[in-house]
Amino acid sequence: MHDVVIAGAGPVGLFLACELGLAGCSVLVLERDPDPRSPWKTHPLGMRGLSATSVAAFHRRGLLRPLLTASGLPDAPDAPDAPDSDEPSPPRSVSHFAGMVLDPSNVAASPFRLPGPAAEGVMTDLEAVESVLSARAADVGVEIRRGLAVSAVEQDDEGVVLRAGGHEHAARWAVGCDGGRSVVRRLAGFDFAGTEPQFTGYVVLAAIADPEELRPGFTLTPTGMYLRTPAEGYVGVLDFDGGAFDRSRPPTRDHLQAVLRRVSGTEVTLGEVRHASSFTDRAMQATTYRRGRVLLAGDAAHVHSPLGAQGLNLGIGDAVNLGWKLAATVRGDAPDGLLDTYTGERHPVGARVLDWTRAQTAVMKPDAHARAIQAVVRDLLGTRDGTIYVFERTSGARTRHDLGDEHPLVGRDAPDFRLADGTRLGDLMPDGRGVVLDFGADHRLRGAAARWGSRVRYAAGAARNDLGLGAVLVRPDGVVAWAGDRDPDRAAFERAATRWFGVHPSSPVPV
Ligand SMILES: Cc1cc2nc3c(=O)[nH]c(=O)nc-3n(C[C@H](O)[C@H](O)[C@H](O)COP(=O)(O)OP(=O)(O)OC[C@H]3O[C@@H](n4cnc5c(N)ncnc54)[C@H](O)[C@@H]3O)c2cc1C
Repeated sequence: MHDVVIAGAGPVGLFLACELGLAGCSVLVLERDPDPRSPWKTHPLGMRGLSATSVAAFHRRGLLRPLLTASGLPDAPDAPDAPDSDEPSPPRSVSHFAGMVLDPSNVAASPFRLPGPAAEGVMTDLEAVESVLSARAADVGVEIRRGLAVSAVEQDDEGVVLRAGGHEHAARWAVGCDGGRSVVRRLAGFDFAGTEPQFTGYVVLAAIADPEELRPGFTLTPTGMYLRTPAEGYVGVLDFDGGAFDRSRPPTRDHLQAVLRRVSGTEVTLGEVRHASSFTDRAMQATTYRRGRVLLAGDAAHVHSPLGAQGLNLGIGDAVNLGWKLAATVRGDAPDGLLDTYTGERHPVGARVLDWTRAQTAVMKPDAHARAIQAVVRDLLGTRDGTIYVFERTSGARTRHDLGDEHPLVGRDAPDFRLADGTRLGDLMPDGRGVVLDFGADHRLRGAAARWGSRVRYAAGAARNDLGLGAVLVRPDGVVAWAGDRDPDRAAFERAATRWFGVHPSSPVPV
């Protein structure tokens, strides 16, 4: 009997497994595919944009450097003596809305982000992400069994049994991280609700006889959109067919060429198709992420079109949010209702991402009304405020969980505060504990924080840029649970610590 069994060793299942293993849970991951390698996971087909919020999640667990190495990217500027400023600088790369690309010079840094190794998004691929997480999972004692597809799920008050590979695998909790066509979601009886597709999208890696027929980057056309990426022969196309293409079979060369010609309005000619797949803008979400002892995370909990590059980031956010809450529940020291804050916090974030992709579909539709809205949006994107709004929606900078505290930082991903000795917040979180940062000279929260010493690390010292705060309490998932001013209210700190970390009978009495 394991503490937790996870279906699916994709990026989300693996991130969750690492979090649970780090917290001391016994974890079994059951993965359908026998081989983790696939051309769909490497450049260019497997390329994925990680947002700054996801990068911060890797950074806080000491996984950013391995990720950058695996992605063939140079190290981030995180050396304590790096001559960086403590003022945020604008991001170097930004996203698009419905194929309308943002101008990076129009984007200001988010007021809640500080410079550091996790200040920017990273372009990586699925293989790099999964290899780094698989290695960490092994380090923290997670067992991954490949070639085992989950085919049955049964639960009672005591635990869950998943059937896979002709065997039963029992655990106290189960999490479906088995992707958009999740078997766990279906078998455990989750409702999956949303909107049906308007288009079929295709990604194609092919020999193209006359690539110059296609304009580089995103091109919106009267009938849809196409994308010619910098990678030779790698193109994407959206066809507003109402999602009619039969996706049970791979698209043929003739079909792909016909769609690409129609949407691009060119006579482009495809040669041999090396790889091709299709997707839609079907936008569906589980109505709850927990049913009894079964939970969902990642694409298993929500599916939507890849417009805006958010699915993986959303899933990593789920895993980071769920991991420490489920671990505390397994240990038996979770405060009342902690596990249900997972759905409470992550469902609204997922719903907003689904709406974001729907809004892009509405703007791209091949009709006069959509074209009229498109023109308005294009004008707005030409403005600084419009650009910042879109950037903050896609980068995660606008994500704020409602924790019932009006302070603008509470509920957000914590800035990577840097103490005078160069230590960053991210450096203090590799073991997955929460952190109290006490910026005041009199270290007034030291005694109070000691009560939660096994759950919360206390660190004191002036910050190079404290954003006007006296102290912050950061949850293991990097979310700010409480922010105090220069004269921090100790009672308010204790209320927040009790809410998220519970009360410890064995902990020392506050001094
Ligand atoms: C073209 C394209 C581009 C994208 N670009 C981006 C991007 O730039 N940024 C971004 O954030 N997102 C992007 N996404 C979305 C992103 O790839 C997904 O949201 C992400 O991979 C979901 O991760 P996951 O772990 O939830 O699911 P998956 O990656 O689907 O992993 C699920 C795992 O479960 C396994 N599995 C399935 N069924 C079973 C079963 N019955 N039993 C056991 N195991 C099972 C599968 O084999 C798989 O390993 C893109 C998607 C597409 C299609």
